[in-house]
Amino acid sequence: MTPWFDPSLVFIGGAWRAPACGDTLPVINPSTGAEIARIARGTRADIDAAVTAAETAMAGEWGALPAFARGRILARLGQLILDHIDPLTAMEAADVGKPLTQARNDVIAMARYCEFYAGAADKLMGETIPFQNGFTVYTLREPHGVTGHIVPWNYPMQIIGRSVGAALAAGNACVLKPAEEACLTALAFADLARQAGLPPGALNVVPGLGAEAGAALTAHPGIRHISFTGSVATGRKVQAAAAENVVPVTLELGGKSPQLVFADADLDAALPYLVNAGIQNAGQTCSASSRILVEQSIYAEVCDRMAAAYRGLSVGPATADLRVGPLISARQKGIVERYLAMADPAHIIARGQLAPDLPEGGHYISPALIAGPGPDHVLAQEEIFGPVQIILPFVDEADAIRIANGTAYGLVASVWSRDGGRQMRLAKALRAGQVFLNNYGAAGGVELPFGGTGLSGHGREKGFEALYAMTGLKTVAALHG
Ligand code: NAD
Repeated sequence: MTPWFDPSLVFIGGAWRAPACGDTLPVINPSTGAEIARIARGTRADIDAAVTAAETAMAGEWGALPAFARGRILARLGQLILDHIDPLTAMEAADVGKPLTQARNDVIAMARYCEFYAGAADKLMGETIPFQNGFTVYTLREPHGVTGHIVPWNYPMQIIGRSVGAALAAGNACVLKPAEEACLTALAFADLARQAGLPPGALNVVPGLGAEAGAALTAHPGIRHISFTGSVATGRKVQAAAAENVVPVTLELGGKSPQLVFADADLDAALPYLVNAGIQNAGQTCSASSRILVEQSIYAEVCDRMAAAYRGLSVGPATADLRVGPLISARQKGIVERYLAMADPAHIIARGQLAPDLPEGGHYISPALIAGPGPDHVLAQEEIFGPVQIILPFVDEADAIRIANGTAYGLVASVWSRDGGRQMRLAKALRAGQVFLNNYGAAGGVELPFGGTGLSGHGREKGFEALYAMTGLKTVAALHG
């Protein structure tokens, strides 16, 4: 896996350059612990240059492009991503530790975001408003200007696609700060955008540490909107920085998302979703389903069937393309192990299998299924961000809703039941930004608005909602008699 570009550079104003401080940071392959590349350590000076380049783009060629022309560039970018599916898959697998099939799906998802927002760019319309006689009133949806994008390491391609894709379609110029743990595909995206004909400065990518490049980006007075995905702790800092400059912010901060399984559910259909939603990307997914709530009468059966599925899970390097890869870092592995140590060993009813001869430096952990702690236990309340699921029994619908809504989060939820009335009641009662009925995740759902409530954050990404969020609304009232 050798990138076709120099990953130790920052991408500013349509060109690659060395970071201002001259330093680089290591890129570690989570499957082996080996250093595979160096990335730039961007700092405030690079962020300043990137914002200036973006402002220049807004005032120049990029800002003057009609919406359909922005769409054409995004369409070309989507095709270029698909043309590079093999190198991008290898890059994401090496950088994030994703099993190859999951990495490949992320490449396809990034291309889908480009395609969706390519088609949407010239369909972002205002409205005319009936008003008093003698007036004509209409609204304009205008780009914010320069937008800041801070992306985590778990799904770099998908999150860049949904956030930067929407911002560019709406006519903004972007400054992207990818996570220091996984930057390579962000840099590849910049190079492919250049090849697709994106004018200089419309997209700038500055890798670096959160406390340096990230903090400089969120504090910069030239940034007119911030899109952040990551932890609650950093989300609070980002919102505080946005408050200083009084700019809007979209926060996507993870969750403790439940699947509710009622006794009338089609268990054969549910089972693959119940497990996969917890272990996909080794559980390092903001919308991971880390709580499985099961009606008392089928609780023992679901525990048994999920336990059997867990014993069949195998964990290995990304290139082995097993169900579960390594965690992103030794630090993340430590976090998950500390949570597992809080479980009563008798409550851990099944573990997955570590493949033989795992590379010594990799950050592997065998998935754990836990039944027994109550809904208020720390393991049932906090986001673990690893391949760990908790099964909880409930007695009836009201109890299920109480437990499901009983955390500080509210990102997604799903209901497994054949009862149509129950499906409708629960879709309303569950505290979540997305509710799935007899499925989970809708295969990523590029078109479907996504975001949370409570500690899961606020604002919506994906679909047209993201485009609206990437614009400001102007009302024009003409008095003409
Ligand atoms: P983080 O929130 O610190 O990092 C996410 C992004 O924010 C990275 O790009 C990072 O460089 C940047 N960042 C960090 N500090 C910043 C600051 N002061 N100002 C601006 N940007 C800053 O998350 P992490 O440390 O990588 O992971 C810690 C925990 O966060 C995980 O254990 C997990 O629970 C959670 N997490 C959630 C998601 C999600 O998708 N919701 C993604 C990653 C991590």
